[in-house]
Amino acid sequence: MAAGESPLRDPYGRPINSLRISLTQRCNFNCFFCHREGESNPHGEATAEEIEAVAAAASDLGIRRFKLTGGEPLLRRDVVEVVRRIASYADEVSMTTNGSLLAEKAADLREAGLRRVNVSLHSTRPDAFRRITGIDALSDVERGVSAALESGLRPVKLNVVVLKGLNADDIPEMIEFSKGTGAVLQLIEFQPLQRGAADWERFYYDLRPVEEMLEARSEVVRERALHRRRQYHLRGGGVVEVVRPMHNSRFCRFCTRLRVTSDGRLKPCLMRDDNLVEAFRAAVARREPYWRD
Ligand code: SAM
Ligand code: SF4
Repeated sequence: MAAGESPLRDPYGRPINSLRISLTQRCNFNCFFCHREGESNPHGEATAEEIEAVAAAASDLGIRRFKLTGGEPLLRRDVVEVVRRIASYADEVSMTTNGSLLAEKAADLREAGLRRVNVSLHSTRPDAFRRITGIDALSDVERGVSAALESGLRPVKLNVVVLKGLNADDIPEMIEFSKGTGAVLQLIEFQPLQRGAADWERFYYDLRPVEEMLEARSEVVRERALHRRRQYHLRGGGVVEVVRPMHNSRFCRFCTRLRVTSDGRLKPCLMRDDNLVEAFRAAVARREPYWRD
């Protein structure tokens, strides 16, 4: 068992090393492609106590890395308390946020035990940012990135879902921007899910040629254990990580995370919506007579 690996394995031999917890499905942005972490029809939000209980149970099983997501996790009024509660069961608590409320919360989150943060920043051009997110909030997000760096959150990663005709041509500019701030640029392939599916063919942008370009420009290429994602350390500075799940069996073969929905249900995979089927199987597997000889 490798360091940081939990002993819990699925039937395909994949260790479960981290939990991706949705705190809410509410959001103050309206990104047209949003997959909402594969969640539909949530029944309310789990409380801070319930989320702590999930983290405690996961920790007992050896899962000690937690990523908070949503919806927009910073819309939860008790988000700092949630981080504080989870941190006592964790080797690492991180968060993915749209960054619009991060400037006011970064220092408190850091003090509560947040270690690192991903800020979604799909474009540094105000018009493209508005077309993608449906809102004029670029300057708030940029302030959030600065506050995260000033608070000592490390690394700060800038998540960019790459979209044909909207921001795909901005990749060189985004590399320079992230290099200038000291953040890692994370380029993410557009995955077809829920509301975004109708637009998928129009906006999907294959990241394989981008990986070839990055490899040619790199001093060192590192491969992360999770999804075997590649991190390109560029000559002249700058780090770019590529998240390329589409038609990529290696991505799934090395997927080591489990999900918790905002209403507190376990979800085995972003792409699969077989919770009910799995729940039936699990319930049937757990049936046993109450009175027995
Ligand atoms: N609201 C937060 C944010 O935007 O960072 C957290 C939730 S959001 C669902 C988590 C990440 O998934 C973000 O980086 C977002 O850009 C990305 N994302 C959303 N829909 C996607 C899609 N269809 N394909 C790929 N990435 C997507
Ligand atoms: Fe979805 Fe995040 Fe955009 Fe909100 S900010 S719509 S949760 S991707």
